Amino acid sequence: MEKSDFDWLHVLLVDDSVTILNYVNKVLEQSYDIRHIHTALSAPEAMQILRQSKQINLLFLDLNMPNVDGIQLLSQISELGYKGYVVIMSGVSTQIISSVESLAKTYGLNYIGTLLKPIHELDFQYIIDKIGGSRQRNSPDESLKVYEIIRAIKNNDIEVLYQPQVDLTTRKFIGVEALCRMNHPRLGMVSPDRFIDKAEESELIVHITLAVLKRSMGDWKKWSQSGLDIKLSVNVSPIALQQVEFADTVFMLLDEYTMPASNLCIEITEGVVATDHAQELMNLNRLNMRGVEIALDDFGQNHSTIERLQNLPLTYLKLDKSYFIDNKDNMNQLALINTSISVAKDLNIKTIAEGVENNQVMSLVTEMGCDFGQGYYIGCPMAAKKIFGWQREWSDKT
Ligand code: C2E
Ligand code: MG
Ligand code: MG
Repeated sequence: MEKSDFDWLHVLLVDDSVTILNYVNKVLEQSYDIRHIHTALSAPEAMQILRQSKQINLLFLDLNMPNVDGIQLLSQISELGYKGYVVIMSGVSTQIISSVESLAKTYGLNYIGTLLKPIHELDFQYIIDKIGGSRQRNSPDESLKVYEIIRAIKNNDIEVLYQPQVDLTTRKFIGVEALCRMNHPRLGMVSPDRFIDKAEESELIVHITLAVLKRSMGDWKKWSQSGLDIKLSVNVSPIALQQVEFADTVFMLLDEYTMPASNLCIEITEGVVATDHAQELMNLNRLNMRGVEIALDDFGQNHSTIERLQNLPLTYLKLDKSYFIDNKDNMNQLALINTSISVAKDLNIKTIAEGVENNQVMSLVTEMGCDFGQGYYIGCPMAAKKIFGWQREWSDKT
């Protein structure tokens, strides 16, 4: 048997419902190739397994169980000295959940997230991302085949998750970035790294971009109707920007979803800038003239300077997450971030720090004068319907 990326993971699922146990078991096994899974229908049974198998390092725990419930079990497992990850599963109100979450932290447990029932297959990705791998079953790095991408587009299997962005000074929720996923019949949720490059080799990326724009603008409209006024950022590949009609298509969609242009932000990459295509610049300028904002994504990866980008109508510069992950303590790196932020300020461009994974990075980028932040510490990419719950949690936290 081939080696799995998750051979090191030993999971214990605790829920009094056999249906839920089977469902979670199936997703972990089939979508992520997680092979060591124990199940328990009650808290005492869970405790017995934990005592016997010291290898368990990921626990999915239902809050509502008869007799000993999830809250009591949390205290028991902390007494037992359990050091692994804890994920809570629950259908109860988000208020109770957030108090249980802080309880878990008080017990010193390694709480990493909550799956709200009914649990969607999409929800697991963020748990998996957090424990250090967005890798999925079967040669994780292998890109998908063209026919698989076409099938996904035809079947409407391009899903969109949203990651919140906040103002670093006021902590206010200001917008979301739309991040696509493919719902694959065999592999489950597939990350964009496995199909965007391939889709960019042909014009399939144009169809994906369109699908993401439509889906996310639809979600934006629902949020807006519920009183949420936020910005929506969508990643647009250079291939899509080279289409003569791209700007007009966006204008048409803005009309269709009655979305003000100023609520939309288009994220482009440095590649666009380097190649200097007239058509791309035309589209960007037309979009910007109507009020659509433009962000330069992944800044810092290609050693170019913002001065060079001055002929672009940029509103935001997104500092690449590699700045803040792993080598954030490196002095040269800090100097680079500082320079980028101050040049951006001079050019009247706002900065967004990507990859804000913990409190330390959050403080660092705030002190350095970055305007906005995005990252796992603030919120992981999530389904559209989770945004309101996240917003409540975030405002409680700040
Ligand atoms: P990106 O636009 O730079 O998006 C940010 C990526 O960083 C996302 O990965 C996000 O999940 C991840 N991320 C966010 N916060 C953190 C953090 O704190 N720590 C770490 N380690 N990672 C964090 P994701 O969703 O896998 O997307 C990867 C890339 O795929 C995106 O990078 C973007 O270039 C591309 N992509 C995603 N959706 C689309 C799309 O609709 N169209 C196009 N053309 N490209 C897309
Ligand atoms: Mg982006
Ligand atoms: Mg980026």
